[in-house]
Amino acid sequence: MKKSVGYTIDLEGDWIMYNHLSKPHGGRLIDRVLVGKMKNKAKETAKELAKIHIDKETSIELGNIGKGVLSPLEGFMVREDYLNVLERKRLTKGLPWTIPILLDVSKEDVKDLKEGDDIALIYNEEIIALMHIEDIYKFDKKEIAEKVFGTTDPLHPGVVKTYNMREILLGGKIDLVEEFITPFQEYALAPSATRSLFKAKGWKTVVGFQTRNIPHKGHECIQKTALSLFDGLFINPLLGRKKKGDFKDEVILDAYKALITNYFPMERVVFGVLQTEMRYAGPREAIHHAIMRKNFGCTHFIVGRDHAGIGDYYPPYAAQEAFAEFPDLGITPVFFPSFYYCSRCLSIVNRKICPHGSEYHLQFSGTKIRQSIVNEGRVPSELIRPEVADVITRWKEPFIEED
Ligand SMILES: [Zn+2]
Repeated sequence: MKKSVGYTIDLEGDWIMYNHLSKPHGGRLIDRVLVGKMKNKAKETAKELAKIHIDKETSIELGNIGKGVLSPLEGFMVREDYLNVLERKRLTKGLPWTIPILLDVSKEDVKDLKEGDDIALIYNEEIIALMHIEDIYKFDKKEIAEKVFGTTDPLHPGVVKTYNMREILLGGKIDLVEEFITPFQEYALAPSATRSLFKAKGWKTVVGFQTRNIPHKGHECIQKTALSLFDGLFINPLLGRKKKGDFKDEVILDAYKALITNYFPMERVVFGVLQTEMRYAGPREAIHHAIMRKNFGCTHFIVGRDHAGIGDYYPPYAAQEAFAEFPDLGITPVFFPSFYYCSRCLSIVNRKICPHGSEYHLQFSGTKIRQSIVNEGRVPSELIRPEVADVITRWKEPFIEED
Protein backbone atom coordinates (compact mmCIF):
# COMPACT_ATOMS: atom_id res chain seq x y z
CA MET A 1 0.00 0.00 0.00
CA LYS A 2 1.29 3.44 -0.92
CA LYS A 3 1.99 5.64 2.08
CA SER A 4 0.21 8.98 2.07
CA VAL A 5 2.25 10.53 4.87
CA GLY A 6 5.78 11.85 4.48
CA TYR A 7 8.08 14.73 5.30
CA THR A 8 9.11 17.74 3.29
CA ILE A 9 10.93 21.03 3.88
CA ASP A 10 8.88 24.19 4.14
CA LEU A 11 9.93 27.69 3.02
CA GLU A 12 11.66 28.38 6.34
CA GLY A 13 13.82 25.30 5.88
CA ASP A 14 12.05 23.31 8.63
CA TRP A 15 11.01 19.71 8.20
CA ILE A 16 7.26 19.43 8.25
CA MET A 17 4.94 16.51 7.90
CA TYR A 18 2.65 16.42 4.91
CA ASN A 19 -0.26 14.21 4.29
CA HIS A 20 -2.19 14.18 1.04
CA LEU A 21 -5.96 14.21 1.22
CA SER A 22 -7.21 10.70 1.82
CA LYS A 23 -7.79 8.61 -1.27
CA PRO A 24 -11.38 7.39 -1.47
CA HIS A 25 -12.00 4.03 0.21
CA GLY A 26 -10.96 1.38 -2.32
CA GLY A 27 -8.94 3.95 -4.30
CA ARG A 28 -11.57 5.47 -6.56
CA LEU A 29 -14.54 7.76 -5.93
CA ILE A 30 -17.65 6.01 -7.23
CA ASP A 31 -19.89 8.00 -9.55
CA ARG A 32 -23.09 6.28 -10.61
CA VAL A 33 -25.19 9.38 -11.26
CA LEU A 34 -26.77 9.39 -14.69
CA VAL A 35 -26.91 12.74 -16.45
CA GLY A 36 -28.06 14.14 -19.83
CA LYS A 37 -28.88 11.61 -22.54
CA MET A 38 -28.02 8.64 -20.32
CA LYS A 39 -30.54 9.83 -17.76
CA ASN A 40 -33.29 10.33 -20.33
CA LYS A 41 -32.59 6.93 -21.81
CA ALA A 42 -32.75 5.31 -18.36
CA LYS A 43 -36.11 6.96 -17.72
CA GLU A 44 -37.42 5.50 -20.99
CA THR A 45 -35.99 2.06 -20.21
CA ALA A 46 -37.51 2.12 -16.74
CA LYS A 47 -41.03 2.25 -18.17
CA GLU A 48 -40.60 -1.33 -19.40
CA LEU A 49 -38.95 -2.67 -16.25
CA ALA A 50 -40.35 -4.32 -13.15
CA LYS A 51 -40.80 -1.69 -10.43
CA ILE A 52 -40.05 -2.01 -6.76
CA HIS A 53 -41.24 0.62 -4.32
CA ILE A 54 -38.70 1.79 -1.77
CA ASP A 55 -38.94 4.05 1.27
CA LYS A 56 -37.50 7.51 1.83
CA GLU A 57 -34.39 6.28 3.67
CA THR A 58 -33.52 3.94 0.81
CA SER A 59 -34.02 6.74 -1.74
CA ILE A 60 -31.58 8.91 0.21
CA GLU A 61 -29.09 6.05 0.56
CA LEU A 62 -29.25 5.56 -3.23
CA GLY A 63 -28.09 9.17 -3.58
CA ASN A 64 -25.17 8.39 -1.26
CA ILE A 65 -24.18 5.33 -3.28
CA GLY A 66 -24.49 7.23 -6.57
CA LYS A 67 -22.31 10.11 -5.41
CA GLY A 68 -19.61 7.97 -3.87
CA VAL A 69 -20.25 8.58 -0.15
CA LEU A 70 -20.16 4.80 0.22
CA SER A 71 -17.26 4.13 -2.19
CA PRO A 72 -16.28 1.48 -3.22
CA LEU A 73 -19.90 0.25 -3.09
CA GLU A 74 -21.66 0.66 -6.42
CA GLY A 75 -24.95 -0.71 -5.25
CA PHE A 76 -26.51 -2.92 -2.59
CA MET A 77 -24.46 -5.80 -1.24
CA VAL A 78 -24.51 -9.25 -2.78
CA ARG A 79 -24.62 -12.20 -0.41
CA GLU A 80 -20.88 -12.80 -0.32
CA ASP A 81 -20.09 -9.23 0.70
CA TYR A 82 -22.95 -9.23 3.19
CA LEU A 83 -21.62 -12.37 4.90
CA ASN A 84 -18.05 -11.11 4.91
CA VAL A 85 -19.14 -7.83 6.48
CA LEU A 86 -21.04 -9.69 9.20
CA GLU A 87 -18.28 -12.19 9.93
CA ARG A 88 -15.04 -10.37 9.18
CA LYS A 89 -16.05 -6.70 9.09
CA ARG A 90 -14.57 -6.59 5.59
CA LEU A 91 -15.80 -6.74 2.01
CA THR A 92 -15.04 -9.94 0.12
CA LYS A 93 -11.87 -8.41 -1.32
CA GLY A 94 -10.63 -7.57 2.18
CA LEU A 95 -11.37 -3.87 2.44
CA PRO A 96 -12.63 -2.79 5.90
CA TRP A 97 -16.44 -2.42 5.99
CA THR A 98 -18.62 -2.84 9.05
CA ILE A 99 -22.25 -2.01 8.20
CA PRO A 100 -24.25 -4.10 5.70
CA ILE A 101 -25.80 -1.89 3.00
CA LEU A 102 -28.86 -3.86 1.98
CA LEU A 103 -31.99 -3.64 -0.11
CA ASP A 104 -34.82 -5.64 1.42
CA VAL A 105 -37.86 -6.54 -0.67
CA SER A 106 -40.91 -8.75 -0.29
CA LYS A 107 -41.39 -12.23 -1.80
CA GLU A 108 -44.16 -10.71 -3.89
CA ASP A 109 -41.70 -8.09 -5.29
CA VAL A 110 -39.32 -10.73 -6.62
CA LYS A 111 -41.65 -13.52 -7.69
CA ASP A 112 -41.07 -12.83 -11.41
CA LEU A 113 -37.45 -11.68 -11.09
CA LYS A 114 -34.19 -13.51 -11.58
CA GLU A 115 -30.50 -12.69 -11.35
CA GLY A 116 -29.41 -10.67 -14.38
CA ASP A 117 -32.67 -8.69 -14.56
CA ASP A 118 -32.82 -4.90 -14.42
CA ILE A 119 -35.43 -3.21 -12.25
CA ALA A 120 -36.57 0.32 -11.48
CA LEU A 121 -36.57 1.55 -7.87
CA ILE A 122 -39.48 3.89 -7.24
CA TYR A 123 -40.27 6.36 -4.47
CA ASN A 124 -43.39 8.52 -4.55
CA GLU A 125 -44.11 7.52 -8.17
CA GLU A 126 -40.67 8.81 -9.17
CA ILE A 127 -37.90 6.66 -10.67
CA ILE A 128 -34.96 7.06 -8.31
CA ALA A 129 -32.61 4.46 -9.76
CA LEU A 130 -32.16 1.47 -11.99
CA MET A 131 -30.73 -1.65 -10.43
CA HIS A 132 -28.98 -4.56 -12.10
CA ILE A 133 -29.79 -7.63 -10.03
CA GLU A 134 -26.75 -9.78 -9.34
CA ASP A 135 -28.06 -11.69 -6.37
CA ILE A 136 -31.40 -12.59 -4.78
CA TYR A 137 -30.99 -14.12 -1.33
CA LYS A 138 -32.46 -14.82 2.08
CA PHE A 139 -30.92 -13.62 5.31
CA ASP A 140 -31.08 -14.08 9.05
CA LYS A 141 -32.33 -10.98 10.87
CA LYS A 142 -31.25 -12.28 14.25
CA GLU A 143 -27.74 -12.75 12.95
CA ILE A 144 -27.61 -9.10 11.82
CA ALA A 145 -28.86 -8.01 15.23
CA GLU A 146 -26.21 -10.06 17.04
CA LYS A 147 -23.28 -9.25 14.78
CA VAL A 148 -23.93 -5.61 13.88
CA PHE A 149 -25.66 -4.31 17.00
CA GLY A 150 -24.26 -6.77 19.52
CA THR A 151 -27.73 -7.38 20.92
CA THR A 152 -31.06 -8.97 19.99
CA ASP A 153 -32.95 -6.67 22.36
CA PRO A 154 -36.07 -5.55 20.47
CA LEU A 155 -35.85 -2.19 22.25
CA HIS A 156 -32.63 -1.28 20.41
CA PRO A 157 -33.72 0.96 17.48
CA GLY A 158 -31.33 -0.70 15.01
CA VAL A 159 -32.61 -4.13 16.00
CA VAL A 160 -36.23 -2.99 15.62
CA LYS A 161 -35.50 -1.74 12.15
CA THR A 162 -33.75 -5.00 11.23
CA TYR A 163 -36.66 -7.11 12.50
CA ASN A 164 -39.03 -4.98 10.39
CA MET A 165 -37.10 -5.60 7.18
CA ARG A 166 -38.79 -7.48 4.35
CA GLU A 167 -37.67 -11.08 3.87
CA ILE A 168 -35.56 -11.08 0.70
CA LEU A 169 -32.40 -9.13 -0.18
CA LEU A 170 -31.38 -7.92 -3.60
CA GLY A 171 -27.74 -7.28 -4.42
CA GLY A 172 -26.36 -5.44 -7.42
CA LYS A 173 -25.12 -2.18 -8.90
CA ILE A 174 -27.37 0.83 -9.24
CA ASP A 175 -27.55 3.82 -11.56
CA LEU A 176 -28.99 6.92 -9.96
CA VAL A 177 -31.66 8.49 -12.18
CA GLU A 178 -33.23 11.13 -9.98
CA GLU A 179 -31.81 12.20 -6.68
CA PHE A 180 -34.36 12.41 -3.89
CA ILE A 181 -34.35 16.07 -2.91
CA THR A 182 -34.63 16.94 0.77
CA PRO A 183 -35.04 20.40 2.35
CA PHE A 184 -31.34 20.28 3.26
CA GLN A 185 -30.00 19.69 -0.22
CA GLU A 186 -27.97 22.90 -0.43
CA TYR A 187 -25.93 21.75 2.57
CA ALA A 188 -25.52 18.17 1.34
CA LEU A 189 -22.12 18.47 -0.35
CA ALA A 190 -21.07 15.48 -2.42
CA PRO A 191 -17.62 13.95 -1.83
CA SER A 192 -16.42 15.36 -5.16
CA ALA A 193 -17.44 18.84 -3.94
CA THR A 194 -15.78 18.62 -0.52
CA ARG A 195 -12.62 17.23 -2.10
CA SER A 196 -12.45 20.19 -4.50
CA LEU A 197 -13.08 22.61 -1.64
CA PHE A 198 -10.38 21.12 0.58
CA LYS A 199 -7.96 21.19 -2.33
CA ALA A 200 -8.81 24.78 -3.24
CA LYS A 201 -8.14 25.79 0.35
CA GLY A 202 -4.75 24.10 0.17
CA TRP A 203 -5.51 21.83 3.11
CA LYS A 204 -3.27 18.79 3.47
CA THR A 205 -4.94 17.56 6.64
CA VAL A 206 -8.67 17.69 7.29
CA VAL A 207 -10.31 16.40 10.42
CA GLY A 208 -13.93 15.27 10.20
CA PHE A 209 -16.46 15.73 12.98
CA GLN A 210 -19.59 13.59 13.08
CA THR A 211 -22.58 14.70 15.10
CA ARG A 212 -26.30 14.06 15.45
CA ASN A 213 -26.87 16.75 18.00
CA ILE A 214 -26.92 20.47 18.53
CA PRO A 215 -23.47 21.81 19.48
CA HIS A 216 -22.73 22.41 23.15
CA LYS A 217 -19.55 23.98 24.48
CA GLY A 218 -17.97 20.55 24.99
CA HIS A 219 -18.34 19.73 21.28
CA GLU A 220 -16.92 23.11 20.34
CA CYS A 221 -13.90 22.49 22.55
CA ILE A 222 -13.24 19.13 20.88
CA GLN A 223 -13.61 20.67 17.41
CA LYS A 224 -11.25 23.54 18.22
CA THR A 225 -8.66 21.34 19.91
CA ALA A 226 -8.66 19.20 16.77
CA LEU A 227 -8.54 22.23 14.49
CA SER A 228 -5.44 23.44 16.34
CA LEU A 229 -3.63 20.37 15.04
CA PHE A 230 -4.90 20.14 11.46
CA ASP A 231 -5.35 22.46 8.46
CA GLY A 232 -9.10 22.27 8.26
CA LEU A 233 -12.20 21.04 10.04
CA PHE A 234 -15.13 19.38 8.28
CA ILE A 235 -18.24 19.59 10.46
CA ASN A 236 -20.59 17.00 9.06
CA PRO A 237 -23.82 16.50 11.03
CA LEU A 238 -25.85 13.49 10.19
CA LEU A 239 -29.40 14.36 9.16
CA GLY A 240 -31.98 11.68 8.63
CA ARG A 241 -34.01 9.12 10.52
CA LYS A 242 -33.18 9.29 14.21
CA LYS A 243 -35.14 8.40 17.28
CA LYS A 244 -37.87 10.08 19.26
CA GLY A 245 -36.50 12.79 21.56
CA ASP A 246 -33.52 13.64 19.29
CA PHE A 247 -33.25 17.21 18.02
CA LYS A 248 -34.97 17.84 14.70
CA ASP A 249 -32.71 18.18 11.68
CA GLU A 250 -33.71 21.82 11.10
CA VAL A 251 -32.72 22.72 14.66
CA ILE A 252 -29.31 21.03 14.37
CA LEU A 253 -28.65 22.83 11.10
CA ASP A 254 -29.62 26.27 12.42
CA ALA A 255 -27.72 25.74 15.67
CA TYR A 256 -24.52 24.91 13.79
CA LYS A 257 -24.92 27.88 11.49
CA ALA A 258 -25.16 30.12 14.57
CA LEU A 259 -22.11 28.53 16.20
CA ILE A 260 -19.87 28.63 13.14
CA THR A 261 -20.80 32.19 12.16
CA ASN A 262 -20.08 33.52 15.62
CA TYR A 263 -17.22 31.40 16.93
CA PHE A 264 -15.22 29.81 14.11
CA PRO A 265 -12.66 31.18 11.64
CA MET A 266 -14.76 30.63 8.53
CA GLU A 267 -11.79 29.98 6.25
CA ARG A 268 -10.77 26.94 8.27
CA VAL A 269 -14.13 25.21 8.48
CA VAL A 270 -16.29 23.48 5.91
CA PHE A 271 -19.85 22.68 6.94
CA GLY A 272 -21.92 20.10 5.11
CA VAL A 273 -24.63 17.69 6.12
CA LEU A 274 -24.63 13.95 5.59
CA GLN A 275 -28.09 12.58 4.89
CA THR A 276 -28.31 9.05 6.17
CA GLU A 277 -30.00 7.32 9.04
CA MET A 278 -28.47 6.75 12.45
CA ARG A 279 -28.17 3.05 13.11
CA TYR A 280 -26.93 3.22 16.72
CA ALA A 281 -24.49 0.38 16.04
CA GLY A 282 -21.77 1.84 18.30
CA PRO A 283 -18.28 0.52 17.40
CA ARG A 284 -19.24 -0.80 13.96
CA GLU A 285 -20.96 2.44 13.08
CA ALA A 286 -17.96 4.49 14.23
CA ILE A 287 -15.84 2.70 11.61
CA HIS A 288 -18.58 3.26 9.03
CA HIS A 289 -18.70 6.96 9.88
CA ALA A 290 -14.93 7.19 9.43
CA ILE A 291 -15.06 5.46 6.02
CA MET A 292 -17.69 7.90 4.75
CA ARG A 293 -15.59 10.88 5.92
CA LYS A 294 -12.55 9.37 4.20
CA ASN A 295 -14.58 9.46 1.00
CA PHE A 296 -15.32 13.14 1.62
CA GLY A 297 -11.53 13.69 1.70
CA CYS A 298 -10.84 13.79 5.45
CA THR A 299 -7.45 12.53 6.60
CA HIS A 300 -8.51 12.33 10.25
CA PHE A 301 -11.75 11.63 12.08
CA ILE A 302 -12.80 12.56 15.60
CA VAL A 303 -14.14 9.71 17.68
CA GLY A 304 -15.60 10.70 20.99
CA ARG A 305 -17.02 8.93 23.96
CA ASP A 306 -19.89 6.57 23.14
CA HIS A 307 -19.72 7.33 19.42
CA ALA A 308 -22.92 6.18 17.66
CA GLY A 309 -24.02 4.49 20.85
CA ILE A 310 -27.34 4.46 22.59
CA GLY A 311 -28.36 3.53 26.15
CA ASP A 312 -25.90 1.14 27.77
CA TYR A 313 -25.48 -1.22 24.85
CA TYR A 314 -21.81 -0.37 24.27
CA PRO A 315 -19.03 0.46 26.74
CA PRO A 316 -18.20 4.23 26.60
CA TYR A 317 -14.91 3.77 24.74
CA ALA A 318 -15.77 0.68 22.66
CA ALA A 319 -15.97 2.77 19.48
CA GLN A 320 -12.46 4.10 20.02
CA GLU A 321 -11.11 0.60 20.70
CA ALA A 322 -12.74 -0.73 17.51
CA PHE A 323 -10.21 1.14 15.35
CA ALA A 324 -7.37 -1.12 16.55
CA GLU A 325 -8.78 -3.84 14.28
CA PHE A 326 -8.32 -1.67 11.17
CA PRO A 327 -4.76 -0.43 10.72
CA ASP A 328 -5.50 -0.36 6.97
CA LEU A 329 -8.52 1.94 7.24
CA GLY A 330 -6.83 4.82 5.41
CA ILE A 331 -8.16 7.52 7.72
CA THR A 332 -6.67 8.20 11.13
CA PRO A 333 -9.00 8.33 14.12
CA VAL A 334 -8.42 11.05 16.69
CA PHE A 335 -9.67 10.03 20.10
CA PHE A 336 -11.09 12.48 22.57
CA PRO A 337 -12.29 12.03 26.12
CA SER A 338 -15.43 13.98 27.10
CA PHE A 339 -14.94 17.62 27.95
CA TYR A 340 -16.55 19.25 30.98
CA TYR A 341 -16.42 22.59 32.74
CA CYS A 342 -14.22 22.65 35.85
CA SER A 343 -14.88 25.42 38.35
CA ARG A 344 -11.32 25.13 39.73
CA CYS A 345 -9.61 25.22 36.34
CA LEU A 346 -12.15 27.88 35.32
CA SER A 347 -12.18 26.36 31.85
CA ILE A 348 -13.47 23.55 29.71
CA VAL A 349 -11.17 20.60 30.29
CA ASN A 350 -11.13 16.81 30.28
CA ARG A 351 -9.95 14.07 32.61
CA LYS A 352 -6.50 14.00 31.00
CA ILE A 353 -5.72 17.63 31.80
CA CYS A 354 -7.74 18.45 34.93
CA PRO A 355 -6.64 17.14 38.35
CA HIS A 356 -9.78 18.19 40.27
CA GLY A 357 -12.57 16.11 41.75
CA SER A 358 -15.98 15.59 40.23
CA GLU A 359 -17.52 18.06 42.72
CA TYR A 360 -16.01 20.83 40.57
CA HIS A 361 -17.23 19.43 37.27
CA LEU A 362 -20.21 20.39 35.17
CA GLN A 363 -20.88 17.77 32.49
CA PHE A 364 -22.06 18.72 29.00
CA SER A 365 -24.68 16.06 28.71
CA GLY A 366 -27.13 16.05 25.81
CA THR A 367 -29.71 14.47 28.10
CA LYS A 368 -29.29 17.23 30.66
CA ILE A 369 -29.73 19.88 27.98
CA ARG A 370 -32.87 18.15 26.73
CA GLN A 371 -34.27 17.90 30.26
CA SER A 372 -33.75 21.61 30.98
CA ILE A 373 -35.55 22.51 27.77
CA VAL A 374 -38.44 20.14 28.40
CA ASN A 375 -38.83 20.65 32.16
CA GLU A 376 -37.75 24.24 32.71
CA GLY A 377 -38.33 25.67 29.24
CA ARG A 378 -34.80 27.09 29.13
CA VAL A 379 -31.57 26.30 27.39
CA PRO A 380 -28.77 26.15 29.98
CA SER A 381 -26.42 29.01 29.06
CA GLU A 382 -23.53 27.49 31.01
CA LEU A 383 -23.57 24.59 28.56
CA ILE A 384 -24.51 26.29 25.30
CA ARG A 385 -23.48 29.49 23.52
CA PRO A 386 -26.18 32.18 23.74
CA GLU A 387 -26.49 32.43 19.93
CA VAL A 388 -27.08 28.68 19.74
CA ALA A 389 -29.55 28.84 22.65
CA ASP A 390 -31.46 31.60 20.79
CA VAL A 391 -31.87 29.33 17.79
CA ILE A 392 -33.22 26.49 19.91
CA THR A 393 -35.70 28.62 21.85
CA ARG A 394 -37.10 29.95 18.60
CA TRP A 395 -38.43 26.45 17.91
CA LYS A 396 -41.65 25.58 19.70
CA GLU A 397 -40.95 21.89 19.46
CA PRO A 398 -37.24 21.25 18.82
CA PHE A 399 -37.46 17.48 19.31
CA ILE A 400 -38.62 14.60 17.15
CA GLU A 401 -42.00 13.50 18.46
CA GLU A 402 -42.35 10.15 16.72
CA ASP A 403 -39.88 7.37 15.97
ZN1 LIG B 1 -10.01 21.24 36.99
